[in-house]
Amino acid sequence: MRIVLFGRDGKVGSVLGPRLSEAGHEVTGVEVGEEVELAGHGAAVDFTAPAAVLGNVRRALEADVPCVIGTTGLPDGGVEEIDGLARERGLPSFLAPNFAIGAVLMMRFAEEASRFMPDAEIVELHHETKLDAPSGTAAATAARMAGEVPIHSVRLPGLVAHQEVILGAAGQYLTIRHDTTSREAFVPGVLLALERLPDLPPGLTVGLDALL
Ligand code: NAP
Repeated sequence: MRIVLFGRDGKVGSVLGPRLSEAGHEVTGVEVGEEVELAGHGAAVDFTAPAAVLGNVRRALEADVPCVIGTTGLPDGGVEEIDGLARERGLPSFLAPNFAIGAVLMMRFAEEASRFMPDAEIVELHHETKLDAPSGTAAATAARMAGEVPIHSVRLPGLVAHQEVILGAAGQYLTIRHDTTSREAFVPGVLLALERLPDLPPGLTVGLDALL
């Protein structure tokens, strides 16, 4: 498939681009300020920044190119806007706050555990250049759990992406932890989303769970 990759030189994009090519895709990488002809591509993949993603996705959908979105921290109303635009154009699109299978399982297990242990807090830890806090994964995890789950965000050099869900009860606590040690972790999820994109309904499908 011909794929536009917004954020080609970023921490994720620079790992993802070569892996998409290895998987047989023809990749057009795009960085800030670069203009490319979007029409004719089979999909656009976006790993950029909260301030950039909506503009990229709008331009792609207007060129009839469906989107796979990894960028987190979308502005308020962004998800609804993408969903509306994709429906208007009759195109599928897909967004996942986390493309790593281990993180998806962590969210599932946290949802299940919170049915039995409702007192819980989340600690999410990321590299110091991450722009949004709390992380999209932490917000999505909390939304699936019982009650209000406080989220604590740590930003430090040396970290990639890590999350602990700590559930407490009298005399015990349960920790569910996921660690991303390399951006390779996101590659299989993005490849799966690209493979399944043509089968998705018009509008925005959210979360890797929907594809598993
Ligand atoms: P990063 O290292 O800052 O990379 C972002 C790249 O996008 C940079 O090269 C940036 O260029 C470029 N960019 C900014 N605006 C652009 C535009 N309008 N068009 C094309 N390229 C543009 O960030 P990252 O760590 O790769 O993460 C990117 C995003 O993905 C973040 O929102 C992060 O939270 C998210 N993420 C999601 C997942 C997931 O599984 N869903 C996993 C990891 C990361 P400049 O540096 O010149 O601005």
